[in-house]
Amino acid sequence: MEWKTIIEPFKIKTVEPLGITTREERQAILAAAHYNLFNIRAEKVLIDLLTDSGTGAMSAAQWGGIMNGDESYAGARSYYNFESEVKRLTGFDEIIPVHQGRAAEKILFTVIGGKGKYIISNSHFDTTRANVEFSGAQAMDFPVKEAMEFDKPAPFKGNADVAAMEKFIKEKGAASIPLCVMTVTNNSLGGQPVSMENLKAVQNLCRKFGIPMFLDCARFAENAYFIKLREKGYAQCPVREIAESMFELADGAWMSSKKDALVNIGGFLAMNNRDWSGKARQLLILTEGFSTYGGLAGRDLEAIAIGLREVLDENYLQYRIRSTQYLGEGLLGHGVPIINPPGGHGVYVNAKKFLPHIKPANFPAQALACALYLEGGIRSVEIGTLMFGKRDKDGVYQAAPMELVRLAIPRRVYTQSHIDYVIEVFGYLAANKKNIKGLDIVEAPAILPHFTAKLKPAK
Ligand SMILES: *Cc1c(COP(=O)(O)O)cnc(C)c1O
Repeated sequence: MEWKTIIEPFKIKTVEPLGITTREERQAILAAAHYNLFNIRAEKVLIDLLTDSGTGAMSAAQWGGIMNGDESYAGARSYYNFESEVKRLTGFDEIIPVHQGRAAEKILFTVIGGKGKYIISNSHFDTTRANVEFSGAQAMDFPVKEAMEFDKPAPFKGNADVAAMEKFIKEKGAASIPLCVMTVTNNSLGGQPVSMENLKAVQNLCRKFGIPMFLDCARFAENAYFIKLREKGYAQCPVREIAESMFELADGAWMSSKKDALVNIGGFLAMNNRDWSGKARQLLILTEGFSTYGGLAGRDLEAIAIGLREVLDENYLQYRIRSTQYLGEGLLGHGVPIINPPGGHGVYVNAKKFLPHIKPANFPAQALACALYLEGGIRSVEIGTLMFGKRDKDGVYQAAPMELVRLAIPRRVYTQSHIDYVIEVFGYLAANKKNIKGLDIVEAPAILPHFTAKLKPAK
């Protein structure tokens, strides 16, 4: 019998209490936080969907590995466990540990970036873009058109527009393009997957022009599982093999292990190019640590090695993708518009469509995020006019191309009843959305305004 209920494929050994508050308390907390959810203490949050980064639960095996961590400065056993696991998965020779994804980006783009250069991608994640631009190079995104058609389902909205990429390469010349980055899954555009066919097409294009292709592989396992579910010819293929095939197409990769390595901190940079890896290790020693720990403790390396195996368990991935879909279906059931289909790590609500009575200058997505906290104690994050923060010369905020609220789901942390609760709160908001009011800025810095901006209810 194939049962239709897909259950969490784990039982719970350690628990911690949720932050239970009253609506009245939350009203005061929101005001004190200046309507910016980054200013709220996590203890005052009931369900925290701010991010899936570093917020997952480790397994008993990983906690066991923590006790076995070898804390030797050089040549620790835990490093070699980590190195051999990353090699087995990616097939690359040069494995460099880092404390998180952006450290790999800083090092890589210091080596290969610089003025007059372009990095091309399906879409750069924001820390990637920031590190490319900090080096003096320009970050160019080539997403497919379906990516912006939020209501219309498509299986691989994370794909790159290969024709547009080719046109750009011909225009600028391959010599000015040291790297192509494929982000799997495509975090910035809704956690949408990239197909194997698209990875192959981009690889072919890059090969033709002699441009190396790397994967930004924070969510490689979720991407591989989507290929199994949605791409012709992969239904019977083990997810590990699909993942290995993805890496085979690439010349290198970096990973924020805070996502699909199922740990709370860590990352790596991996490649075959000895010239680049030699330079990268010099920078690693300068800023992160010696080449066999890279800013991590031995126990962290041990936990990553175990997590990289656990994440390819197909029962885990089935639960992971199903639970995100379940939240998406629940919201659609209440008429809440989302990026459809939901991504791997979260559901993105289209606040522009949900709250048409709030003008972009009054931050509809931020208003919705605040309402979610006020009514339900749920923390989410705005991806819209406040985050992009473009202002005209009079200081008036310009509408961002999208106005989204991201509900990111931590790995192995919440159960279905937690998600049912989130859906119920959305049902209430959908029925009472006229009561949700916009916000005005009190003050906001020029750079990354969403982290520290202060707001107040609009008059
Ligand atoms: C999280 C993430 C990063 C940055 O990693 P950190 O560990 O947060 O520094 C880079 N790329 C992608 C796709 C990510 O999701």
